[in-house]
Amino acid sequence: MAKMRDRLVRSACFGLLGLALCGALPARAITIKNARAKMGSPFEITVVTADEAAAWRAIEAGWSEIDRIEALISSWRETSETSAINRAAGGEPVVVSRELLDLVARAIKVSRLTGGAFDVTFGAVGRLWDLKADPPRLPEPAEIAAALELVDFRAIELDPAASSVRLAKPGMRLGWGAIGKGYAANRTVAMLRAQGAAGGLVNAGGDIVAFGHQEDGSPWKIAIAHPLRPQQVFAFLEVEDQAVVTSGDYERYAEIDGVRYAHIIDPRTGWPVRGVRSVTVVCPDGELADALATATFVMGVTDGLTLIDRLNGVEAMVVDDEGVIHYSQHLEQHIREEPAP
Ligand code: AMP
Ligand code: MG
Repeated sequence: MAKMRDRLVRSACFGLLGLALCGALPARAITIKNARAKMGSPFEITVVTADEAAAWRAIEAGWSEIDRIEALISSWRETSETSAINRAAGGEPVVVSRELLDLVARAIKVSRLTGGAFDVTFGAVGRLWDLKADPPRLPEPAEIAAALELVDFRAIELDPAASSVRLAKPGMRLGWGAIGKGYAANRTVAMLRAQGAAGGLVNAGGDIVAFGHQEDGSPWKIAIAHPLRPQQVFAFLEVEDQAVVTSGDYERYAEIDGVRYAHIIDPRTGWPVRGVRSVTVVCPDGELADALATATFVMGVTDGLTLIDRLNGVEAMVVDDEGVIHYSQHLEQHIREEPAP
């Protein structure tokens, strides 16, 4: 066990996950955690600092950053830049902040990288699948076909010189459900670092970005929920300066006529994805991990892991609907499975 742990710690610092850079800790370090509801999900910020006052300064700056991002990008907020773009779909370009323009540009890049499995314009078809409706209903095939015409990341027009975004077709929508929490977690970590935190974790509704170490100098231990029994820990990953992001159908789903429908939609068919229970992606960037977890979920075990294996410094674990776990090339050796209770 100790040998295994040593190996994990070593690999977390130097290994294939590209962790490296074990930074300095303050002489006396304390850890403070704080949980709040943000972006419609439970969030938690953990910081390691020299004293309590510094910890709370960092934590409050982190929450403010998350609030700022939510106000900027949320498609649920009428006053956000995203809503302005969505309202103007098919019309004039909308001038936006550099930050939103860059976020859209990166989303288009990941859409291209994943062959459209992740598509930031999925919303036109996504809104047909209201899993919270009581009772939930299946959309008509004609509704799905019409909505699919509006799901097309290639029809996003970016003008970097004018800092503007235009959705080419009326009814198109941008939605950040698959990437926004990862982005928020990244930015929050940057804020905590800027506030002088030596280490910390941002858990954005289950999307985790870790930096530095725990107060005793050891790597962060990220628990991975059991895909078939989400209340139970299935495995631990020890990480520093890494994101660990899970997309799972247990997070949000509806059952209609005994069939389970997940909240992740295949933009090629307009139907919720089946065949995968959960995908966990590990890489240094929370936003990329978030987008890739959703995309891998859509692509399925074989195509998803083929893509992950092509990407440097990105690892993933996919659980199929039989509960069988599939690992990318280098991940299995970094996972410490918990014995079943
Ligand atoms: P995640 O939990 O990161 O996998 O994100 C899932 C959320 O992303 C869903 O609840 C939808 O809001 C949105 N979404 C669903 N399918 C897609 C897709 N194929 N591409 C982009 N966003 C999606
Ligand atoms: Mg995601």
